[in-house]
Amino acid sequence: MGLLSNVFKRNTGDATPQKPAVVKTDAAEQLKPKPMNKEVKIVAKKIEVGYVHMSGCTGCLVSFADNYDKLFTILDRYVELCSCLALIDARHMDTMDIAIVEGSVCIQDKLSVDEIKETREKAGIVVALGGCACYGNITRFCRGGQQNQPQLESFVPIGDLIKVDLYIPGCAPTPQQIRNVCVMAYLLLRGDDKQKELATAYLTPLMKLAQGGTEACGCDLMTNVINQGLCMGCGSCSASCPVRAITMEYGKPNIERDLCIKCGACYAQCPRSFFNEAIISQYEAIDDAVKGALQ
Ligand code: SF4
Ligand code: SF4
Repeated sequence: MGLLSNVFKRNTGDATPQKPAVVKTDAAEQLKPKPMNKEVKIVAKKIEVGYVHMSGCTGCLVSFADNYDKLFTILDRYVELCSCLALIDARHMDTMDIAIVEGSVCIQDKLSVDEIKETREKAGIVVALGGCACYGNITRFCRGGQQNQPQLESFVPIGDLIKVDLYIPGCAPTPQQIRNVCVMAYLLLRGDDKQKELATAYLTPLMKLAQGGTEACGCDLMTNVINQGLCMGCGSCSASCPVRAITMEYGKPNIERDLCIKCGACYAQCPRSFFNEAIISQYEAIDDAVKGALQ
């Protein structure tokens, strides 16, 4: 037995030092780490969506966010957001199922032109979200001459530079429109045959809108609806105009052209513009599918 052991024995006796007894209380029990409940996510089946921000005001993205809890449901179950500068820290664009593009493109800004072309190369489906991406909207009125880049004077809708598959018009588009397109795109790419059929019925008019060109104005109502004897005076155009450029006079829309910002919302909302029986007759099934998906 060594010297230190002897000294220890002499000072403390043979008794082994006792640890203070731990009194179990409810509080101590509560502090114990509890087994974590693993979150279940159907990640593998999600579609990859990139949100591309061009010359837009972020209002379209805010409208997307205005889906509140439904946005989380969409992101949890259906959509993997693979790029979106405002929300996630992904600096480089990767291949994706769908690119949702907000804003028009300034053709004097080489980076923007390159980015929209890259978007087309990387995305299976390109969606123009909002009046600026679809029709130029307020950026149609840009004339340049402002510091610190006076040369930035020409802004064009993305469809003037790349092929666009689908339009979601509006300034800003409604949260429901964006939500519906996300769910329907998921059903189109991941659903069974019946769901694909339903999604096609929903998305076809929006695809046709994209094939209809990149110019819009309140005058579309005059030339394509009123002058064709189609207007029924419902007032949907007036209700949808974000700048109150349309007033109903004697039961027909009157357009204040100097107020019009060329967003295309009025024509898109008019039930006599691209009236589509395929979607009207399936309205309940579409409504049920979207509500069911987001429950
Ligand atoms: S009249 Fe109103 S809704 Fe129609 S394009 Fe002009 S700003 Fe948009
Ligand atoms: S939405 Fe179409 S049908 Fe209705 S009032 Fe306007 S132009 Fe006429």
